[in-house]
Amino acid sequence: MTVRREAARVNAGADDITAEWEPLDGLEARAGISPRSRIRRHAERAAPAEAESILRAGRVAHVAYALEGQPYVIPFLYDYADGAVYLHGAPASRTLKTLRDGVDVAIEITLLDGLIASRDAESHSANYRAVVVYGRAERVTNMTKKRAILERMTLRYFPGRTAGTDYEAATEKQIRALEVLQVPVIELGVKMRAGGPRGPRDADPAAWGTAYVVELGGYDA
Ligand SMILES: Cc1cc2nc3c(=O)[nH]c(=O)nc-3n(C[C@H](O)[C@H](O)[C@H](O)COP(=O)(O)OP(=O)(O)OC[C@H]3O[C@@H](n4cnc5c(N)ncnc54)[C@H](O)[C@@H]3O)c2cc1C
Repeated sequence: MTVRREAARVNAGADDITAEWEPLDGLEARAGISPRSRIRRHAERAAPAEAESILRAGRVAHVAYALEGQPYVIPFLYDYADGAVYLHGAPASRTLKTLRDGVDVAIEITLLDGLIASRDAESHSANYRAVVVYGRAERVTNMTKKRAILERMTLRYFPGRTAGTDYEAATEKQIRALEVLQVPVIELGVKMRAGGPRGPRDADPAAWGTAYVVELGGYDA
C-alpha cells in the first residue's frame, strides 16, 4: 500500500509522486497523514484507534466524488475488510461507473451515539464516531472474490445468514451482472466525541435550565 506516496502527492497537489515509498500497517497509521484528513477543529477528538471498529459497525456509506465540477454524495451499503471499503450495485449506476474510472473518492460513515442538551445554547452538541476515507476504486472482476465479498457483505448485515441454507446462492450470471468495487483506504480522518454536556454551567446542578444526554446507541447517521 503506497500510503505515504499518495499522501505526498496530495500534499504537493501534483501527480508526480516523488516521496519515499513506505508500507504502513493498519488503518490507524493512515489517519491524519496529510492536510486533507488531519483533524484541525477539536484536534483532541481525533480517534485513529477507533477507525476499524467504526468501519465495521457502520451500515451506510456516503460516497462523494466530483464529476465535471459537480460534487455528488450518494448513499450505499458497504463492507469493510482488510483495509478496503467495498461497494456494489448495477454497472449502469453513475456513481459506480465514475468510480471505476479511478476518480478520487471520499467515503463518510457516521455513528450517532447521542445528543447533548446543555444549559447554554452554544454548548448543545452530539456524541458521534465518524470516519472519512479517501481512496480510489478498483474493479473486482475475479468471480470467486466477487462472490466472497458479496456473501460477506450479506453476512455483515444479516449475521448468521448463509448462502445455501437461508437463501439461494447467486448464480454466476447474477454475480457477473453486478459491479463490485474495492476502495483501498489510502488515508482517513477519524473523529469522535463522547461524554456529557460541557457548557460553562452544566456541572452546576444549582444553575437554572436542564442538561442531559439522549443516548442513541450508535444510530447509523
Ligand atoms: C441506505 C441506502 C443504501 C443503498 N445501497 C446501495 C448499494 O449498495 N448499491 C447501489 O447500487 N445502490 C444503493 N443505494 C441506491 C443509491 O443511493 C443510488 O440511488 C443508486 O446506486 C443509483 O446511483 P446513481 O449514481 O446511478 O444515481 P442516479 O440515479 O444517477 O442519481 C441521480 C441523482 O439522483 C439523486 N439520488 C440518487 N440516489 C439517491 C438517493 N439514494 N437518495 C436521494 N437522492 C438520490 C442524486 O441527486 C443523484 O445525483 C442505496 C440507497 C440507500 C438510501
